Amino acid sequence: MLLIETSDSLVLVDTGFGLDQVQTPKLLGQPFRAAVQPKLSESQTALRQVEALGFSATDVRHIVPTHLDIDHAGGLPDFPAAELHVWRPEMEGVQSPSLKERPRYIKHLFAHGPKWHPHDVDGDEWMGFESVRALPGVDPEVLIVPLPGHTRGHSAIAVRAGDGWLLHCGDAYFHRNQVQTPASCPPGLRAFQAIVGLERKRRLQNEERLRELNQRKGSEIRMFCAHDLEELERLRAGEGA
Ligand SMILES: [Zn+2]
Repeated sequence: MLLIETSDSLVLVDTGFGLDQVQTPKLLGQPFRAAVQPKLSESQTALRQVEALGFSATDVRHIVPTHLDIDHAGGLPDFPAAELHVWRPEMEGVQSPSLKERPRYIKHLFAHGPKWHPHDVDGDEWMGFESVRALPGVDPEVLIVPLPGHTRGHSAIAVRAGDGWLLHCGDAYFHRNQVQTPASCPPGLRAFQAIVGLERKRRLQNEERLRELNQRKGSEIRMFCAHDLEELERLRAGEGA
C-alpha cells in the first residue's frame, strides 16, 4: 500500500489487510491462507500505520485500490468514511460477480456500504495507456491506469512524484523480472498468477505493455508490484525498480 499526503487529506492506494482479518483470520478463507500464508499483524494494518504517523482514520478521505482482492482491500472497513475510487468494471465485479469471481470478492469487505466512486476512462492518455484522474484538482496527481486481466477492473495507480511518477502495478505482475528484458519468473509464481488471474490473454498483454514501458522509460517512472519485497526494498533504497 501507499499513503499520499495531499494539501487537505490523505489518499491510500490499496489498504492491505485490515483489523477484521487480523482479529479473525478465518475470514481470509482456507485456500487463500494455504496458498499465501499471510503474516497478519495489527501494527501492519493501514489504520494502525496511519495512526502511528499521527493521523486518524477520517483523515484518509480517498482510497484508490489497484483492485479489490482481500489482500488489497481488506482494510476498507477500517476507513468507512473514505471515498472508494475504482475503474468501474472492478465495482461491477463486486456487485455482480460471475461464478468464477464470486470467491474472490469477499462480502464482509463491502458490508459497511463503501462510498463508491466509479471512474470511466474518457480518452485521456498517460505514457500511451488509457488513464483517468481519480481526484481532479488534487495535488499530487493520482491516475487510475486500467490494466485488466488479474481481475476485470484491475488497474495500476500512477502518482506524480516530483518530476516523475510512481506506478503501483498491483498484481499486474508478481516478480520484478517479469518486466525486464529478457523476462523471467519462477515457475511456481507463474503458475500461481495463472490460477488467480481472471483473463489470461489480457493479463499477459498488459504484462507485455508494462515490460515495454519499463524499457523505454527513463528514470522518471518508478514501477513496482504488490508482492515483490526485493523490488520494494530497491525502490525504498532509491535505485528505482
Ligand atoms: Zn490480487
